[in-house]
Amino acid sequence: MGLQAFVSNRVVTPQGIRPGTVLVEGERIQGIATRAEVPAHAILEDFGDLAILPGLVDSHVHINEPGRTEWEGFRTATRAAAAGGYTMLVDMPLNCVPATTTVPALEAKRRAAQGQCRVDWAAWGGVVQDNENDLEALAQAGVKGFKCFLVPSGVEEFSMVRESHLRAALPHVARTGLPLLVHAELPELLRGWETHDEDGSLYSTWLRSRPAEAEVAAIELMLLLCREFGFRLHVVHLATGLAFDSLRSARAQGLPVTVETCPHYLHFEADQIADGATQYKCAPPIRSRPNRERLWQGLRDRAIDMVVTDHSPCPPEMKGGGKGSFHSAWGGIASLSMALPVMWTEGSRRDFSLVDIARWMAEQPARLAGCDGRKGRIAAGGDADFVVFDPDAEFTVTEDRLYHRHAVSPYLGEKLSGVVKRTYLRGAVVYQDGEFPGEVMGREFRQ
Ligand SMILES: [Zn+2]
Repeated sequence: MGLQAFVSNRVVTPQGIRPGTVLVEGERIQGIATRAEVPAHAILEDFGDLAILPGLVDSHVHINEPGRTEWEGFRTATRAAAAGGYTMLVDMPLNCVPATTTVPALEAKRRAAQGQCRVDWAAWGGVVQDNENDLEALAQAGVKGFKCFLVPSGVEEFSMVRESHLRAALPHVARTGLPLLVHAELPELLRGWETHDEDGSLYSTWLRSRPAEAEVAAIELMLLLCREFGFRLHVVHLATGLAFDSLRSARAQGLPVTVETCPHYLHFEADQIADGATQYKCAPPIRSRPNRERLWQGLRDRAIDMVVTDHSPCPPEMKGGGKGSFHSAWGGIASLSMALPVMWTEGSRRDFSLVDIARWMAEQPARLAGCDGRKGRIAAGGDADFVVFDPDAEFTVTEDRLYHRHAVSPYLGEKLSGVVKRTYLRGAVVYQDGEFPGEVMGREFRQ
């Protein structure tokens, strides 16, 4: 492919939103030019008032393949990603079988991904109870970091870790220099509702069973270990607005800690979730409206660094079909195709700009996964990954716009602002107005 020139009145760069022309040579961004500077032989695409954002990076996705491909897989997850403006996914080490806790499991994943991906991807490795001696080999084999659970993970092949297991694993994690992503809830502070004979179809029961204190205490434990072992700590899917003081003081002391939250915690509120509506089930749970506003304040204060989906689908029958029990339904919300419009709908209402959206959903997740040299920003030398986005259009979420394997989502029926018009991966269109043109060209991200 020759020189391409993408023109827009709204090019979203870390420095701001401005009119410009993004020059693309092959798979890479050559630079940003003015219209007058574009060479005559360039292939010109003028997007007018449509914004050009960097291709989004989602560092928290459960692709589930190999092993649970009937839940989701590389083909369907990366299709939903392309439709949502994502050009890079980092796959969580669990819900696939085998879990990505050894090098052979990573290799099985690579074979499974072959020839299926609409966008680029990379893998996290898992820290479980007995694999501390696999961690450095996983790092050498190319995982971008590690993930662990302080509570049961929901699948038996991925064991939770206690402080004693972490003490065995953390020296290895620290030596790799890679981040450790932690599901931060402490089991001692969860309330086992099955022993209380409570009604599992009530959302309030689910909410009460996983209090904010369980998140705060887990974060405090991890901060202590971070100080002791000197690894990079990343808190996944923060759902409470009560942990910011601990996080702020840890950062003030120079601890390397980053934090993510998810669109569902920033959009929904507990009071509007009907009993039996298990499509809203995730852990930690969606909390109150005041808590949601505290999370937004956390984004404003930069106590929260990034917004990622935690895309975690399952077959409809496991999700309870709208009249289920919050006790037995699978916990997880699939939102790859909808996260950008959700964030724009809520963010623009609170005076955030597309620059903030790009920082939360592209630049920061790319940095976490160590691919920020090429992904997550519109800058010379980077991969030519873009979203062409109409911030002024509105739509209602319907099943045909979801694109992941099973059309289950709490977002169905929501009216959202902002439409993804096109997604470019390394200079080529991979999504355009409901179609997926071109060859399947996604591949594993390697330095
Ligand atoms: Zn997850």
